[in-house]
Amino acid sequence: MNEYNTLKKLIDKLYSSHSLLREEWTALIAGRSPRLSEYLFCLARKVRHQHYGRDIYIRGLIEFTNYCRNDCLYCGIRKSNPHIHRYRLSESEILACCRQGYKEGFRTFVLQGGEDSFYTDTRMESLIHAIKNRYPDCALTLSIGERSTDSCRHLFGAGADRYLLRHETYDAAHYAKLHPASLSAAARQKCLRDLKDIGFQTGTGFMVGSPYQTVDNLASDMLFIQRLNPHMAGIGPFIPHHDTPFSKQKAGTLELTLFLLGLLRLLLPRVLLPATTALGSIHPYGRELGILAGANVIMPNLSPRHVRDSYSLYDNKLSTGAESAEGLRLLKSQMSAIGYHIVTARGDSLVH
Ligand code: SAH
Repeated sequence: MNEYNTLKKLIDKLYSSHSLLREEWTALIAGRSPRLSEYLFCLARKVRHQHYGRDIYIRGLIEFTNYCRNDCLYCGIRKSNPHIHRYRLSESEILACCRQGYKEGFRTFVLQGGEDSFYTDTRMESLIHAIKNRYPDCALTLSIGERSTDSCRHLFGAGADRYLLRHETYDAAHYAKLHPASLSAAARQKCLRDLKDIGFQTGTGFMVGSPYQTVDNLASDMLFIQRLNPHMAGIGPFIPHHDTPFSKQKAGTLELTLFLLGLLRLLLPRVLLPATTALGSIHPYGRELGILAGANVIMPNLSPRHVRDSYSLYDNKLSTGAESAEGLRLLKSQMSAIGYHIVTARGDSLVH
């Protein structure tokens, strides 16, 4: 049997059993080709249509603080970058973002930020109450890094519904190459398990093509995601930021990111899978191609315009045009051009 047929059989196995062995993951990822990708994307779309039809869920992303106590080597808002303007949105600015978003049809708001010690449990709780009281029909997602089990419990008790915390990379040695010594893969993964146990709809994920990443690392990521069985999985290409130690590293590719999106759709048929901002940032049709590879979520930027440039995780991050909430009409027409439609709905995960 030639290699294409061998790998096609692995995709069929993934489609029917939702599981592969480590060596099968590595063979598939290392041996991928445009022809194999086409085969994969066809199946991924079929699975996505079975569970989510042609609906696309949108999330209004509010980047509410870019202060961060961490020093992740890839991230532009790391604490030792002195060249960015630091900001925190006030509660009324955040509520204004929600008001605008609600009017435009958003029914999920995502509060994302650096790990900002200003946001104690008490402050987060009051923010969560303020949003959930005004928008009880909306889901609220937090993406604010690692917190203690107790803190996560408080935030869930206050009414937050979902939590995004990418594991970034499962392998401890690889994790250590991307993060300062104060952070560990084990702590990150423990936090994810806590979030799930507490009852959050939980999202994890990783960067594609991060420095030093191997195919075996990616196999570990897929095996971890299978074990965790998250409600959401966010992946996007690593993109260098000029003010970080990784400024000269190569970006992850569109092609590998799309392939992994397709694999994730087959691995976890009901997972919420975003076509991420990073994917849209490396290619003009990145978002559309992500949807055609099996993704079903888009997270336009709802942050006030004047802070968008300061939330600079990586260079040339999209925040305007179809990537922005004001560009929703454009996004809608881009999606209908490829046969999909944006819906006004909370868009809860079908994963139990
Ligand atoms: N502080 C929060 C939110 C981080 S920003 C947390 O720790 O979860 C959200 C995601 O952006 C990160 O999880 C990371 O995967 C991604 N990111 C950060 N820097 C990036 C870069 N240079 N290229 C691509 N993605 C990046």
